Amino acid sequence: MRQRDPWLLTPGPLTTSSETKDTMLHDWGSRDDTFIATNKSIRENLLEIIDGQESHVCVPLQGSGTFVVEATLGSLLPRDGKALVLVNGAYGKRMSKILHYLGRGYEIMETSEDTPPSTIELDKRLSADARISHILVVHCETTSGILNPVSEIAKVVEKHSRRLIVDAMSSFGAIPISAKAFKFDAVMASSNKCLEGVPGIGFALIREETLKKCEGNAHSLSLDLYDQWIAMEANGQWRFTPPTHVIMAFDSAINQFLKEGGVSARNNRYSNNCKALIAGMTEMGFEVLLPNQLQAPIIVTFRMPKDPKFKFSKFYERLKEKNFIIYPGKLTVAPSFRVGCIGHIGLPEIEKALAAIKETVKELDVTDFSFE
Ligand SMILES: *Cc1c(COP(=O)(O)O)cnc(C)c1O
Repeated sequence: MRQRDPWLLTPGPLTTSSETKDTMLHDWGSRDDTFIATNKSIRENLLEIIDGQESHVCVPLQGSGTFVVEATLGSLLPRDGKALVLVNGAYGKRMSKILHYLGRGYEIMETSEDTPPSTIELDKRLSADARISHILVVHCETTSGILNPVSEIAKVVEKHSRRLIVDAMSSFGAIPISAKAFKFDAVMASSNKCLEGVPGIGFALIREETLKKCEGNAHSLSLDLYDQWIAMEANGQWRFTPPTHVIMAFDSAINQFLKEGGVSARNNRYSNNCKALIAGMTEMGFEVLLPNQLQAPIIVTFRMPKDPKFKFSKFYERLKEKNFIIYPGKLTVAPSFRVGCIGHIGLPEIEKALAAIKETVKELDVTDFSFE
């Protein structure tokens, strides 16, 4: 494996396999049969991951994850709809910002970044306001790494006969979501997170019955998932230039994912990464933000030691010199930094990362790990 590239211990883009990268060393015609067949296969495989072959359809879209979130909200929410956004981090906030831009009605139900939304509170809000048509939730809030209780939320939403849209961007492929286990109208994710593709496309898995009724909702031609779906169903092609290399690499990454053993195998590998990371960091003295039962095996938030010798920028640079890229914190509640457990990495890479962190802590002479 060529490994002069840095290891990306981030929430994406991530370290990808040589096989995935090698796939991109070719050119494809976007209206050619080979490329069309690959797209079909990707869409079918993605549906299978959520047991959605009979209920949902897969609509891919060019762009980063946020593009598909914006497209899904714009395409699924009727102009007179009203959303309730469950917020406990930056990605929930981003969905409300999108709704603000789109001029759709919405309310926010917010909890702190280390606290999952309360289903009791949700039940009350839905009982009190019959105008709320859609509930939006983030599965793993990448801001902190917290796992939100999507299946319990789905049950409350279903009890009130409302509709659920899930941002599963950072969990898709590593934490199970099944259309047979609970009800949702849409799940959104992208190529460059737990499926370990390269960045460039997102996709939404949308209940077919719902999408059929969404003609005319969208505010934007290029972000209209109804139109994208209808066009793709008609001839298997993308309406506008697709990122061919990204898509071929995504197909390769999905095949590697299936060969590894699908969601359960990936969940295992990432959980082992996460446990080893937390154990090693805790042993050095670092404090983890979240208790174990709230921690998703995706990305871990550590408290910033208040020791003046610990400067994040220096810590980051020294780790980069050792070939590891970590991620700054995104919390508003406390100074922090993040280390990802996802991507084409396993225990050997986590052990090497821990050794690099240990060495860096020594170089910087950090001794006090207490935090503000
Ligand atoms: C990564 C991510 C997104 C999309 O972010 P982009 O930078 O647009 O790819 C959305 N939601 C969550 C929870 C994410 O982790």
